Formats: sequence, structure tokens, C-alpha cells
Amino acid sequence: MKIAIMGAGLSGLACAITLEKHGVPFTIFEKRSQVGDRFVNGEALIAALTRPVNDPIAYLSENHGIYLQALSPMRHILFFSEKEQSVLSGQLGFINLRGRDSESFENQLFNQVKTPIRFNSEHSYEQLLQDYTHIVLATGDAAYTSKIQDFQTDLTVTLKGATVEGDFDRHKVGIWLNYDIAPQGYAFLLPYSEKEACITLAYPDYPANREFDLEKLWENFYTLVCRDFNQPLHITDSFEITRYIIGLCEHPRIGNTFFVGNCFGAVMPGFGFGQFESIMTGIYAAQDLCGLGHYSDLTQPFRESYRNSLVLRRTLERLNNSHLDSIVSLVHHNIVQKVLNHERLNPLKLASRLLRPWVN
Ligand SMILES: Cc1cc2nc3c(=O)[nH]c(=O)nc-3n(C[C@H](O)[C@H](O)[C@H](O)COP(=O)(O)OP(=O)(O)OC[C@H]3O[C@@H](n4cnc5c(N)ncnc54)[C@H](O)[C@@H]3O)c2cc1C
Repeated sequence: MKIAIMGAGLSGLACAITLEKHGVPFTIFEKRSQVGDRFVNGEALIAALTRPVNDPIAYLSENHGIYLQALSPMRHILFFSEKEQSVLSGQLGFINLRGRDSESFENQLFNQVKTPIRFNSEHSYEQLLQDYTHIVLATGDAAYTSKIQDFQTDLTVTLKGATVEGDFDRHKVGIWLNYDIAPQGYAFLLPYSEKEACITLAYPDYPANREFDLEKLWENFYTLVCRDFNQPLHITDSFEITRYIIGLCEHPRIGNTFFVGNCFGAVMPGFGFGQFESIMTGIYAAQDLCGLGHYSDLTQPFRESYRNSLVLRRTLERLNNSHLDSIVSLVHHNIVQKVLNHERLNPLKLASRLLRPWVN
């Protein structure tokens, strides 16, 4: 067996670490000159969305020997809609870094891999197929997947973000559910530290939404963040992505090619979270290669989560700002706080059951 991993991001590196643990050799290719060679941004792991796993960081270390440090645990989420505000409190998840920073998740994973990475790789999938018996496709996008098999693209997303300086509580996150600034999407603030945070605007770029002027939406969002966080914020860095694909592959494995991370369909369409799923699909592909399970079976729960999350997305798209006001005001209720914090309840599954008939 000759294994090639194509892409040294979250899923490719998690696959590499797991193969090494089982003594299975491989070659890992990365097209860039270093791991995480892109803009720095803050991302989040939200407990209510990774259940039944409630603490993904502890789960990865206890069950898979993969060690990650988040920047901070998330203890409060401040929700802002057009006319309402509320706070959700509890052990809600984690804030972490991505990209070029030495503390980013990809750099932390890189430090756990002993096999040298072949950087600046220009090998195509077709070339790798000639030299290797097994390929793990971990390129972080659906480009190759959709050439090889059906990849159901459910939406593409525009993302604009920035690093800002100010005064923050590192456990307090802000989420804006307001279609005037993020049509059918949302915006958020994730603190890196007491002095720095990442602000991001994300919305589906359906033809109707492409009519909106991104710069204007961004300006409105920035004004709201400064108002709601009671301070002027100084922008030090920024990024922009359009047509970020969210979809699901038809077959997690075809022959000896494994589709992991975003090549599998790790990004959940509801709110665009995919880090945990990416790492897990990398681990599961490695387990299959080590004879410890079948990749298609292991990844089945993520396909189900994807479909549940798609119901949530389609629901969000039918709402308007006044619905969002009602949702945000509901967060105050004790029962909602309890459900979202209950370790054994899966809010995504519950919501999808309730909403599916309406969306269908
Ligand atoms: C702006 C933004 C914010 C996000 N926020 C969150 C969040 O808050 N929470 C969350 O859970 N998820 C979030 N996500 C989603 C999450 O980041 C992704 O699901 C995850 O990074 C995908 O991991 P991956 O391994 O598939 O790809 P990546 O981690 O992107 O790695 C892919 C790697 O493959 C390399 N590569 C590409 N092509 C080739 C090639 N031809 N040959 C060799 N190497 C190649 C790339 O250079 C890269 O290093 C966000 C995504 C974006 C874009």
C-alpha cells in the first residue's frame, strides 16, 4: 500500500498523525510553501453543533491522541438582531486561530507530524494516482471532488473579515443576526485576546444577494460592531472570499480515493462550521487505511448532521428581521439556555426534526 495525502490542512494533517500512530507510512503533499499559509482568522468550535461530542478538544486528545490548544473557552455569546439583544451563557465551545500564526490549529497539527511534508507540490490528483495506490484528497475545496464524482453544492458563500484592535473579554463572542448587514447570513466577533479580535461577515451569494454592495454591508456591520461593543475598533488586517463552496460528496470513498475535510463536505450549511468534521474525516480515513473501520460507515453521522444543518439553512433563508428579533429574544428564556447547554441534547437534530416539514 502506497498512500498519498494531498493537502496539509486540518483533515490531511489529522490523517497523517493517525497513520503515524499506527505505523503506516505515507507521503503528504502541500501546494503552498508552509502549513496554514493564508490570512489569519479566528474560528470557533460550538458545543451545541458538534454533539454528541460536547468538548471537541478533550475528545480529540482522549480518543485520538490529537492535541489542540484553543485560544479561549467561549462562555458568553451576545446575540444582536435588528431590535433585540440577548446573552447565552455556559461552556459554549472554543475560539481558535487559523492561518499563518504559529498557534493556528494547522500549525499545532503540523508540530505533531514527524513525516516531512512535501511543500510547493505541483502534483495533480491524476499524477499521484500513477505513483500511489491510495489517495487521501484533502485540498480544502470541492474542485477535484466535483471532477471525480457528484458533489451536491447547496450554496456558495461570501466572507469578509478583519482583525481589529480594541478592548475585549476573551470569553465573550458577538453574533449579529440581521439581514440588513448579512442577507440570509450572519456576522460575528471572535476575540483573540483582550486586545485583538476577528470580525467576519458571511452570507450566501445567491444571485439575489449578489445585488448587495459588499462594501456597504461591511461598513454597516463595522458601525454596528463598534456601537454594540461600545468602542471604536482599529482594523489591522483583512480578508475576503467569494463563492466558498458548501456541499456534500455523493461517495466518501471511491476505489482507493478518500474524500476528507471540505472535499467530503465537512462544512455544515447552517452556519458554516467544519473544523471538527474536517479533523474527524481525516482520522476516519486513516482508520480505514489501517483496517480499523469503513470510512463510509464512520462518516455517516456527519452526512446526517449535514442534512440536519441544511434544514436549518433553508429555514434561515425564509426568515426576515422580525423573525430574527423573535429568535434572539427567545434566547433569554431559561428553557432555551438549558436546551442549548444540555450535554445530551443535540439542538441541531431537534431543530431539524421540527423544521423539516415546514422547509419541505
Ligand atoms: C473564513 C472562514 C471562516 C470559517 N470559520 C469556521 C468556524 O468558525 N468554525 C468552523 O468549525 N469552521 C469554520 N470554517 C470552515 C473550516 O475552516 C473548514 O471546514 C476547514 O478548514 C476545512 O479543512 P480541510 O482540511 O478540508 O481544508 P484546509 O484546512 O483548508 O486545508 C487544505 C490544504 O490543502 C492545500 N491544497 C489545496 N490544493 C492542493 C493541491 N492541489 N495539492 C496539495 N495541497 C493542496 C491547501 O493549501 C491547504 O493547506 C471557516 C472557513 C472559512 C473560509
